[in-house]
Amino acid sequence: MATLKAVRGTRDLLPPETALWNRIEAIARSVFARYNFGEIRTPVFEDTSLFARGVGEETDIVSKEMYTWEDRARAQSEKPQSLTLRPENTAGVVRAYIEHKLGETGQLQKLYYIGPQFRRERPQKGRYRQFWQIGAEVIGPPSAGSESPLRDAEVLEMLAKLLKELRISGWTLELNSVGSAADRARYNEVLRAALEPVAPKMCADCQRRAVTNPLRVLDCKVPEDQPIIETLPKIADCLDEDSKKHFAAVTAALDAAGVPYHLNPRLVRGLDYYTRTTFEFTHGGLGAQNALLGGGRYDGLSESIGGPKAPGIGFAIGLDRLVLTLQAQDQTVLDTIYVDTPCAAYIAPLGEAQNASALALASDLRKRELRVEVGDGTFRLKKSFEIANKLASRIVILGEDEEKSGILTVKNFVTGVQSKVPREELAAVLKKPAAELEG
Ligand code: AMP
Repeated sequence: MATLKAVRGTRDLLPPETALWNRIEAIARSVFARYNFGEIRTPVFEDTSLFARGVGEETDIVSKEMYTWEDRARAQSEKPQSLTLRPENTAGVVRAYIEHKLGETGQLQKLYYIGPQFRRERPQKGRYRQFWQIGAEVIGPPSAGSESPLRDAEVLEMLAKLLKELRISGWTLELNSVGSAADRARYNEVLRAALEPVAPKMCADCQRRAVTNPLRVLDCKVPEDQPIIETLPKIADCLDEDSKKHFAAVTAALDAAGVPYHLNPRLVRGLDYYTRTTFEFTHGGLGAQNALLGGGRYDGLSESIGGPKAPGIGFAIGLDRLVLTLQAQDQTVLDTIYVDTPCAAYIAPLGEAQNASALALASDLRKRELRVEVGDGTFRLKKSFEIANKLASRIVILGEDEEKSGILTVKNFVTGVQSKVPREELAAVLKKPAAELEG
């Protein structure tokens, strides 16, 4: 029988790497808490129309990357429902905002999430079919200040802080404004006209986009198309006065906060809901898939899925890519945020008669916050030493004599020193760094 494997584009995350994931998530939660964000957890699947209407039918995500199925009807009178594994989380958060009438609180909602997303993409390094995102959204009625450019600047400043706490340096913040929905519509027409004479010389995707959704031509990565794209009109020339003023206020606040950015007029992002500020943080260490995170403003998203006016801004960080970036950094950098420490002790009962007291000793040490492992009395001492040496910095030997006297034999693998330690002093000794000599 063929052995079963994780499906293409998905993978298992195993210890010790999962400890690094947990550490990153803990740092993110701590930064979000300081900026007064609360956690939201939405379902991993939603009604397909949420993404079709929210993300946009013409986007790559909706047109070719979603995992969609018809859910069997429960009763004959019911039609089957089309469901989709979420390809991103913003649409789900805004759906929840509308469903739970969070706008009626009159306050800004600051929500973050950490979870898996699903896209049927061609798998490669840094690109998976199940991947993880850490994201956040600031959304609310305009009266709560949700349209303020200060919110954009605060979100970007928070991201710079998060990357700093994760010890990730060398990133570039690419920044642009795609204007209001009306600005975008105008720009699309300007682009459509500009593309008409040149599109036949471009790739097949661009030829299609030139007709269906000209804005998407700017995402094209085909090298031969780049000189043509460089000559196309820029979106900055189509922004109305309000959008220009909004963007100028965002950049001024970033300058004041000391967050560096690079203006990129081609950054339109792959989702249709973006308005005004759009951004991406890229990192050279990532190779072809160089986007660490992306986001922007989505002032019309709530209305496009049937909700009240609720401007917002958010981002999603690729957690898989954060891990890749950190793993590529210097080990000393990695050590400052995450150290895979060995167990403080391996407890080796010398005979089956000592199994019960070995377990009691382990339980007692664990109660004192020590990470310990316990062996089995059927193991020979040599085998216990071999196991202990691989996973712990010390071995605690528990034979008949030790059990009776309450004085344990402890061997420190780092210093090579073997000593006798009274049971009541054991926890204190094990809490000392192993490199310190035990007296
Ligand atoms: P997006 O929702 O497309 O704006 O993506 C936001 C971030 O999620 C990107 O910058 C990536 O870091 C990450 N990401 C998107 N798609 C994938 C994928 N297929 N595999 C791994 N990470 C991804």
